[in-house]
Amino acid sequence: MRKCRVYNDNTLEHREMFRGSEIVIGPGKFVEMLRDDAVMFKSQFYPPKFNKGGVQERESFKMIRLEEIVEGASKGAKAKKVHRCQACGFEADTAKLLKAHIQENHLDQMIDEDARKELEKD
Ligand SMILES: [Zn+2]
Repeated sequence: MRKCRVYNDNTLEHREMFRGSEIVIGPGKFVEMLRDDAVMFKSQFYPPKFNKGGVQERESFKMIRLEEIVEGASKGAKAKKVHRCQACGFEADTAKLLKAHIQENHLDQMIDEDARKELEKD
């Protein structure tokens, strides 16, 4: 069974009921879950809380990130640079893959005209 690390990217502790038990993940910390559970947990609806001004309380942001645990992964592989998409958080192994991802998914959303032209060139 593949396992995942479930990271809480919020600066506040994340507490959420999942399958009858409470999952508590400290700020910037992770818990381990089976991959299927982790995916379900990540996508589970977490009700937002709003303050009187209608602004969402930071504690109710669900900032969960999954990282698959690869058996026997070397330290070198762990330190590998990840190219993260600014728009959706997608992680690509190489700059080239990230570029392809952006071209496919976010070309219309790109605000930086120069970057856009750069991408459209090739
Ligand atoms: Zn993206």
